Amino acid sequence: MKGIMQDWPLTVDKLLEQARLINPTREIVTRRVSGEIVRTNYAAVYDHSKQVSSALLDEGIQLGDRVATLGWNSARHMETWYGTMGIGAVLHTINPRLHPDQIAWIANHAEDKVLVFDTTFLPIIEAIKDKLETVKTFVIYAGADDMPENTLGAVPYDLWIDGRSTDVRWGDFPEDTACGLCYTSGTTGNPKGVLYSHRSNVLHTLVTMSKDAMGMGADDVVLPVVPMFHANAWGLALSCPGTGASMVMPGAQMDGASIYELLDSEKVTITAAVPTVWLLLLQYLRENNLKLPHLKKVIIGGSAIPENILRAFEQDFEVDVIHAWGMTETSPLGTLGTLPPHLMDADIDTRMAQKLKQGRPPFGVELKVVDDEGNEQPRDGKSSGKLLVRGAAIAAGYFKGDGGNVLDENGFFDTGDVANLDEFGTMQITDRAKDVIKSGGEWISSIDIENIAVGHPKVANAAAIGIYHPKWDERPLLIIQAAEGESPTKEEVLASLEGKIAKWWTPDDVQFVEEIPLGATGKINKLKLREMFKDYTLPTA
Ligand code: ADP
Repeated sequence: MKGIMQDWPLTVDKLLEQARLINPTREIVTRRVSGEIVRTNYAAVYDHSKQVSSALLDEGIQLGDRVATLGWNSARHMETWYGTMGIGAVLHTINPRLHPDQIAWIANHAEDKVLVFDTTFLPIIEAIKDKLETVKTFVIYAGADDMPENTLGAVPYDLWIDGRSTDVRWGDFPEDTACGLCYTSGTTGNPKGVLYSHRSNVLHTLVTMSKDAMGMGADDVVLPVVPMFHANAWGLALSCPGTGASMVMPGAQMDGASIYELLDSEKVTITAAVPTVWLLLLQYLRENNLKLPHLKKVIIGGSAIPENILRAFEQDFEVDVIHAWGMTETSPLGTLGTLPPHLMDADIDTRMAQKLKQGRPPFGVELKVVDDEGNEQPRDGKSSGKLLVRGAAIAAGYFKGDGGNVLDENGFFDTGDVANLDEFGTMQITDRAKDVIKSGGEWISSIDIENIAVGHPKVANAAAIGIYHPKWDERPLLIIQAAEGESPTKEEVLASLEGKIAKWWTPDDVQFVEEIPLGATGKINKLKLREMFKDYTLPTA
């Protein structure tokens, strides 16, 4: 027997519709590439989004066609999103930090028909324009006055939508229609496309708005520093309109001074970004003796939080830190580190230890840890193994079938992370499967070593990789980027690890580099590091 309830397809256009009807005057504030601050609101963004839809329909864009953006976080970028997704076209956010050849490869693989981008990226597009096989229309986020010269025949965004009809029908398709496309940078092989559906995005949004997840409401002012091309700004470009929270868009400027200025002047209550952004902000705050009186909560994810960042926010600035784990394939939020009720009143060290873990899955995300034979590991907070995930907003495969079948016989997706779970579902990542250092058959957590090493005041960044060893197969090498003006010694760095890790985990050597290479989403690029040290021999070998 079927229930007798209305068929109300879960399509993302309804999130912006909600904002227009319920919170029309809530603002979206953008720092443009020029540095100028511009203000708009949900009612206006809604109308402009409809005009984007009109422009796309006039270009001949149809259900399922891909429209790409190469854009910073901005109100115009939001309009492009909703204008595209509202008519059932697929919004493809390209990460501009990828190598230009990779951008061309991705745009061709996705068969993007329209490319809308910020002026910052004009040189990249000019350089690859002859390689772009499918893009017919180029649109630049500019008006008539600030439109840069170009050889693409590009149109300025403001003119592209100006005067167009707002009378366009949205959401007239099934909820499992493709909605967004996001390629994971992929440390091996070509990037693969994760193809979100309207339903998966709406369900992810509903889940992440709740109190034990990001917990936001219409009275919040949210600053997503995490870019909209990094897994949908962790869903914020959908959950903010869904709740009516005001948005502050940082554009291209993500340095400490620029972020502080927005946090302060716009009285931001919630913000989100990867750890590197917060290192820069905290440094700026200290140097200038500043406080964060308005900020209530900071969501940190993408890579593990170093303890010094966690403690600085919580103890020095009284800001609640929510450590989050996820992947492009998980929409992206998989776990969030709000404190479980039984630890709310625990002492500070217990609470901080809990928050250093990656957190607990919200409803809608199932986690499981298995050993190499697929046996489920006990939820004891110790036994680690492969982390598997299943849920309504988890990828079931990649665009065009790349990578083949990615689900096991029970429908679980292997995250490639190595983790443990405790009896309350708290998940702790101990490594990425491909980064694990295996010494004498036992795992050494590179993340643990790195986190402790970056806690040393003379260290700016640290990475541990496995190096071939004739007896142990692999032993850890610790690679250090010194803090500005500092020159730590091997002994100092190793001393900072003493007593905090098992003795046999102690790296066999420490090497210093000018700069630890970072990948396109700001994480340490271990592939490159391994390449840099491929001819290196350990002193113990
Ligand atoms: P990419 O590999 O292209 O950077 P993602 O952005 O999807 O792709 O990265 C997902 C991976 O990032 C996870 O599988 C995990 O290894 C790592 N990660 C994300 N958040 C955290 C976190 N809070 N702690 C540790 N690792 C994390």
